[in-house]
Amino acid sequence: MKPAPFEYRAPESLEAALDLMAEHGSEAKLLAGGQSLIPVMNFRLAQPAILVDLNRIEALDYLRPQDDGSLRIGGLTRLRQVERMADLPRHSALLAEALPWVAHPQIRNRSTVGGTLSHADPAAEVPAVCLVEGARFRLARKGGERWVPAADFFRGLFDTALEPDEILVEVELPAPRERTGTSFQEIARRHGDYAMAGVAASLRFASDGRIDEGSLVFLSVADTPLVASEASAMLAGEAPSESLFEAVARHAATAEVDPAGTIHATPDFTRHLVGVLTRRALAAAAKRANGEGETT
Ligand SMILES: Cc1cc2nc3c(=O)[nH]c(=O)nc-3n(C[C@H](O)[C@H](O)[C@H](O)COP(=O)(O)OP(=O)(O)OC[C@H]3O[C@@H](n4cnc5c(N)ncnc54)[C@H](O)[C@@H]3O)c2cc1C
Repeated sequence: MKPAPFEYRAPESLEAALDLMAEHGSEAKLLAGGQSLIPVMNFRLAQPAILVDLNRIEALDYLRPQDDGSLRIGGLTRLRQVERMADLPRHSALLAEALPWVAHPQIRNRSTVGGTLSHADPAAEVPAVCLVEGARFRLARKGGERWVPAADFFRGLFDTALEPDEILVEVELPAPRERTGTSFQEIARRHGDYAMAGVAASLRFASDGRIDEGSLVFLSVADTPLVASEASAMLAGEAPSESLFEAVARHAATAEVDPAGTIHATPDFTRHLVGVLTRRALAAAAKRANGEGETT
């Protein structure tokens, strides 16, 4: 299929792009890596009158480590560039572990951070990571901007808090916290395929060795990345143990996720995967929080 006719604009500054979005609103679509938008346009599921190509806006392409240990990433930064940042694990071990799961290197060479977040595919890895990390997103529009926490950004299937005239210009990942371990686990039929199920997990220990805070976010089990707040709450105040992780995994799989099933996985099989992945993720995160084994 070929896309419906459209007007193509390639502004060279953020201001010019924001002007175009203010003028054309929902008639326009932003083009970043094109890895999702172009297929969608070719199938004519999207028929924008105007395509606003962000690729000439160099000011949106950066990785900026901050003095406080947080990391700021420009909306147009390619996933491969983030993955190759030498000290990425020091800023977000979880993101470093998750990125190689996103499609293939060729696709990550084009896909952008802003694109994968704005597209809001419930099977995408980076949104789940941003939720566990407590990231926030800077959304710009002509004459203003606002910060939106990841927790308020993902609204529904391919739906976000972005207004039609807004551009996601920056992601802020907060500095890693002490005594915290993370883990990203996923099952896909072949490497590079979208996840049949996946989980991003984080455990923070208190000084007495108990779990201070746990966070579990699942992908590919709902219309959005799913924040498992009940299972996460079961971890707080408890001593880490296999039996605790087993109980949390069982609760997540049976009570918190409600997968619709796909041609590759029935709802029951998806629940099974959620249980297995949760156990693995919590065990790995606990080891890392204790400084055992590998650090990512
Ligand atoms: C074969 C294949 C396999 C894939 N597998 C995976 C996978 O396993 N996991 C995964 O997460 N993804 C996967 N993807 C998707 C890929 O990562 C996409 O690139 C990504 O989802 C969209 O990023 P993009 O930069 O290409 O955005 P585009 O395709 O250019 O845009 C996507 C949407 O976001 C909007 N948009 C883009 N940038 C911005 C911005 N800065 N502000 C506001 N709106 C914006 C666009 O208007 C459009 O609606 C796969 C893609 C392919 C082709």
